[in-house]
Amino acid sequence: MRFFLSEKADGSMSSEKNIESFLRGISVDNLVRAGLIHGNKVKMVDSVEESPVQGADGLITMENIYLGVTVADCLPIFIMGDGFHGVLHAGWRGLHSGIIEESIKKMPNTKCSIHIGPAIGECHFEVSNDFKDKFKGYEDCFDQRREGLFLNLKKVAETKFREGGVKKVSTSQECTFCNHNFFSYRRDKKKNIMLAIVGPADNNPIK
Ligand SMILES: [Zn+2]
Repeated sequence: MRFFLSEKADGSMSSEKNIESFLRGISVDNLVRAGLIHGNKVKMVDSVEESPVQGADGLITMENIYLGVTVADCLPIFIMGDGFHGVLHAGWRGLHSGIIEESIKKMPNTKCSIHIGPAIGECHFEVSNDFKDKFKGYEDCFDQRREGLFLNLKKVAETKFREGGVKKVSTSQECTFCNHNFFSYRRDKKKNIMLAIVGPADNNPIK
């Protein structure tokens, strides 16, 4: 596997000690991280010296380095291309402000595989009615139930990638709120975070 996501058992990735033990074979010195702001900026990274990349929610590189973002309900999105790889942190704000479109602009090409990892599912993402205006054209990503309006963020992301010309998109059905193996900000109301990593090759030490 070229990509992986820490789980609750690995501890919160707000702790440097937990990050180091989760990374095992990978040196922290070979990992570039992003200083997230729930925006749409995707940075092309050329060197580990740039870590942490401030003000970016997406990282893409053509170099032999690892990239990581933290999540807890937001979507961890892994980009695996031929000669490039990337990772995105995307919540509703990022999706609304165009982080998927920005990442497609930054990729050398769209002949890549995208994997949308475990994140809050439609089952638990209740939104206000004004979200219908925020996500015009994505009506089929909403579910109107008796108890309220729910939004499928993973489906929004998947649709945007397909609209942008990416054919290979897979999506995890795991909901971080439902599945207690993951941290969930909405469920726990705590700032425990997971680390999503993408690497350059198929020989990652973590399975
Ligand atoms: Zn759920």
